[in-house]
Amino acid sequence: MRTAVVREPGEVLVVPVERLRALVTHDTVLGDIVLHAYLLRREMLIGLEAGFQIVGSRYSPDTRRLREFAARNRLSHRWIDLEDDEEAEALLKGLGVAPKETPVVIWRGNEVLRNPSNEELAETIGLRERIVAEDVWDLLVVGTGPAGLAAAVYGASEGLGTVALDAVATGGQAGTSPKIENYLGFPSGISGAELAARAEIQAEKFGARISVPAESTALEERDDCYVVSFKDGSEATARTVLITTGARYRKLDVPGLEDFERTCVYYAATMMEARVCRGDPVAVVGGGNSAG
Ligand SMILES: Cc1cc2nc3c(=O)[nH]c(=O)nc-3n(C[C@H](O)[C@H](O)[C@H](O)COP(=O)(O)OP(=O)(O)OC[C@H]3O[C@@H](n4cnc5c(N)ncnc54)[C@H](O)[C@@H]3O)c2cc1C
Repeated sequence: MRTAVVREPGEVLVVPVERLRALVTHDTVLGDIVLHAYLLRREMLIGLEAGFQIVGSRYSPDTRRLREFAARNRLSHRWIDLEDDEEAEALLKGLGVAPKETPVVIWRGNEVLRNPSNEELAETIGLRERIVAEDVWDLLVVGTGPAGLAAAVYGASEGLGTVALDAVATGGQAGTSPKIENYLGFPSGISGAELAARAEIQAEKFGARISVPAESTALEERDDCYVVSFKDGSEATARTVLITTGARYRKLDVPGLEDFERTCVYYAATMMEARVCRGDPVAVVGGGNSAG
């Protein structure tokens, strides 16, 4: 697949990912340029809706799950609504997919994932890093919002074997914010996406391993260590477990609310929700400063 276009005679240097990572972490000037270019490129691709396609109905909870997963992980993608996109039917027919098998994810034009779990999607696109079960980590961080990422940076920089996992995406709630102005060290503000990307690189620079999605379901003590179990049946063992899973929203006391939560009730008002609700009437209830 063509991924670059040269407009003038020039030279292409192919740099392996590991070398690029080392460069970004050790050369601050070049690292900043590369990181900034990477963030701008990603923003551009998201705006162009390049990348994989999600074909599914706006009324399907699984469509919403996949779209949210893509948005929270800042993955460039396009959603094709089965309900009113004329392209959808022809596209599905061409791929031999029946409408009842949707949502589907189309990867690289012809690979079809039928209603994949978030884990399957992450695996396919190379987002997920497998954490080896036999390892005993010094520090296992559950939840990679700002608190978890900060702990991963400090733990790893002190030489602890550190792993950080999140059910959805790095950055947590902050990752969805267009601009955070009260974060220490960023006087002119920083977007949540950039904060998350920078923190991730910083943690990895010190040797921390980060993996998403991994939803923890249980914690138990075993042989002087702690074992955390995850939704997919895997386990991770550590001497110390730090739980940084953030806050849970207080919900409105409205009968039947849960029936709608999987399709059309949202607990944030960021660009992501705006994209999902585009063109639809919206009612805002509460929300503090986010209601703005
Ligand atoms: C749109 C928006 C804008 C904001 N803007 C600002 C701002 O400008 N300034 C400011 O100070 N604050 C802001 N906030 C609030 C700020 O983002 C939060 O206070 C901060 O993110 C809390 O960090 P945290 O790491 O404790 O938790 P969170 O950011 O909530 O992260 C918790 C993480 O844990 C993960 N998790 C939960 N359960 C599990 C599980 N079982 N297994 C694995 N992972 C799990 C979640 O997926 C999540 O990624 C904003 C919030 C939002 C939503």
